[in-house]
Amino acid sequence: MKVLKFGGSSLANGEGIKAVTGIVAEAARDDRVAVVLSAMKGVTDRLISLARKAEEGSDGLKDEMEAIRAQHFDAVRSLLGPADQASALMPLAIMCNELEEVLHGVELIRECSARTMDLVMSFGERLSCSLAVSYMCARGIAAVLVDAREIVRTDERFGSAAVDFPKSYTLIREKLEGLTGVAVIPGFVGATAKGVTTTLGRNGSDYTASIIGAGLDAKVIEIWTDVDGVLSADPRIVPDAFVIPALSSEEAMELSYFGAKVIHPYTMVPAVERNIPILIKNSLNPAAPGTLIAAAETIKRDGALPITGIASIEGISLVNIEGGGMMGIPGFAARIFAALAREGINIIMISQASSEHTICLVFRTAEGERALATLNRELAPELHSRRIERFELMQELLIVSVIGENMHGTPGMAGRLFSALGRAGINILVIAQGSSERNISFVIEAKNHALALRTIHAEFLSGRRK
Ligand code: ASP
Ligand code: MG
Repeated sequence: MKVLKFGGSSLANGEGIKAVTGIVAEAARDDRVAVVLSAMKGVTDRLISLARKAEEGSDGLKDEMEAIRAQHFDAVRSLLGPADQASALMPLAIMCNELEEVLHGVELIRECSARTMDLVMSFGERLSCSLAVSYMCARGIAAVLVDAREIVRTDERFGSAAVDFPKSYTLIREKLEGLTGVAVIPGFVGATAKGVTTTLGRNGSDYTASIIGAGLDAKVIEIWTDVDGVLSADPRIVPDAFVIPALSSEEAMELSYFGAKVIHPYTMVPAVERNIPILIKNSLNPAAPGTLIAAAETIKRDGALPITGIASIEGISLVNIEGGGMMGIPGFAARIFAALAREGINIIMISQASSEHTICLVFRTAEGERALATLNRELAPELHSRRIERFELMQELLIVSVIGENMHGTPGMAGRLFSALGRAGINILVIAQGSSERNISFVIEAKNHALALRTIHAEFLSGRRK
């Protein structure tokens, strides 16, 4: 069993659906296949804007509704001959009318709750799946539409519902295991025990694919998107960046956390737990091998490469707390963390030298000023008694993260990394490395972004096999 998931960018129009169908037909030749689809490109955003407009009672509702209808109807007309069009259009028309009724309700009561918003958003995936099933059937593929709400069971946290895994796995197996033909399942959508429609959070279709794959114990989950795979660095900054052929799930999580926007770490969990490999593929370039994400032990590595990839987070600020009075006082860090937590401020990196003379905390810039104010309040007594000498807020910074399983137990990695950066004249403000040795992260000034990434790429990744 294979699970194939296609994102909105692969489903922009009739052409996209045709390409997707070709890929599904090919896969279904050798394997049993379940397909998970996103909404067509831009549709979820449009649905949200429709609901907001209805809530505000503003104009433009009709036009936007027409645009959604047209996007789907045009695709049908471009894909199917007159004989097949009517039966494909009918379910789409029924759903669009139902959506209009829901929106009309929102307009009347001038309120769109999170629960209603989930219902509105669910139409995107339901429409794209209905359309795809009609086209696949016309092309001779035995495609069967499966309602995600019958197999993905969630709680009632509308907008980003939590999945009940044991129950969902049972439902998935019951519904899909005996099914002949290709199951086509709307991503992103689920339902509560009472059958109320929920969604799994934006971009939740990957998550659906991961859940379905885990439920069916699939041999692979293929995530089809519009890029060739996970890249070794941001190609807009590093022209030599290349598609990483294989990486471990831990590396993938680290890379995507640090900005390689291919798959959200959280969505991989169900697949990773059951040891199911994830293959990232490009529906616009199916011949490209893609990137395989699998358990570290199972993947073949390019032995020549000491690191796997480089990622960065922009918009970083740092607060440096300095003073002799922090030395040897247990609970000092706990107080700082608790004060920040009470304010809902997220610390993304910490470093403290063992002299305990400085503690350095790293934040997103949006939270930097607030963090400074909070610390000033919390530590006012220490400032007063001069136990803490000063605080410093530094802005316009950047975190760079160098990731790779191969770094583990390889002495000299950090030396090589920081020597190369030193030669390039880049000043390092903070360094952190977890004992997994899979990630070395450091903070530099934002102006050194491109230079740092290119320097590291050249140092470690230029020797790859062509
Ligand atoms: N259509 C949903 C969204 O745009 C889910 C997805 O595409 O994965 O967020
Ligand atoms: Mg999407």
